[in-house]
Amino acid sequence: MRCLITSARPYDRAFLDAANHGRHELVYTDSALNIRTAAMAQGFPAICPFVDDTLDAEVLRIVAKHGTRLLVLRSTGFNHVHLATARELGITVMRVREYSPYAIAEFALALMLTLNRQLHRAYNRVREGNFLLDGLLGFDMHGKTVGLVGTGKIGTALARILHGMGCNLLGYDAQPSSACQELGVRYTTLEELLGQSHIVSLHLPLFPETQHLIDSERLAQMRPGAMLINTSRGGLIDTKALIDALKGRHVGAVGLDVYEEEADIYFRDHCDDIVCDDTFERLLTFPNVIVTGHQAFFTREAMETIAETTIKNLTDYCEGRGNENLVDAI
Ligand code: NAD
Repeated sequence: MRCLITSARPYDRAFLDAANHGRHELVYTDSALNIRTAAMAQGFPAICPFVDDTLDAEVLRIVAKHGTRLLVLRSTGFNHVHLATARELGITVMRVREYSPYAIAEFALALMLTLNRQLHRAYNRVREGNFLLDGLLGFDMHGKTVGLVGTGKIGTALARILHGMGCNLLGYDAQPSSACQELGVRYTTLEELLGQSHIVSLHLPLFPETQHLIDSERLAQMRPGAMLINTSRGGLIDTKALIDALKGRHVGAVGLDVYEEEADIYFRDHCDDIVCDDTFERLLTFPNVIVTGHQAFFTREAMETIAETTIKNLTDYCEGRGNENLVDAI
């Protein structure tokens, strides 16, 4: 099948070509799919977008007009696809249902430990010959309470790691997981979880009902000085409210791999550019905030699985086989 791989980086090409074995005609472009570029779908029955591509109703109508019938997303999340329009236009949407939950869980832990032990500041200090420890005081993770907001595949993988470190675990999820309960995760209300946790880590998908789940009211419910980690989707947090909570010194530390307006910023080099998003730039000024550019998924194992699943999705579609990655099948 002829498939256009949009927002393709050199690493996407390397992993997809290795998984493809010449089965499908893969054409790569580093351009993101959006209203200005949608006409590039001409001649491609399949498009393979990433999380920074725009797949709103308008773009979907244009690509459908150009003959696109299949979207094979290189992501688990599909909040960026206007599913109602895809259905109306007869566009099949497939995703990578699961790829290494460990990659994201381990990255969430990396953010927690970096913020707690101030590794980002220690790295710079030592390079400048400053070996003072003032300001680098951390806390033992052992015995601390971590609240997992969302205990699906990633939340459960993180629960296993934190259980091994001797943390007390609280969970909030519409469907509690028996694996988490066996690890001693105690399910509770979001309010209680926020009030008791030294660290809160978000692992819910972004749906209309979870948009700005963490708003000013929820932030005020957090234990004073607690740490907030988001490796899920930026839209879960009201960023302006978060900045107020940081300025008020209510939230102690924040690790963000995702940002609600990241589509115009992430996965590109802006070093000779001016980033005009003042909210994003304000986040970068806090010494107790770490921002990374949506890299939690980025391990060799995860990239191999994303590539293999994407090729399998293309093949199954061509051969008329449905599979568990069909987004409508959820
Ligand atoms: P999952 O589907 O296994 O788990 C999600 C959990 O959220 C489920 O247990 C579900 O019951 C719960 N849930 C959904 N809506 C809810 C609601 N309104 N209230 C309470 N609970 C609700 O998903 P996962 O594989 O663990 O991934 C979680 C999210 O992580 C994805 O949706 C994606 O947005 C994000 N993600 C980020 C990266 C990254 O690189 N930063 C990579 C992969 C996934």
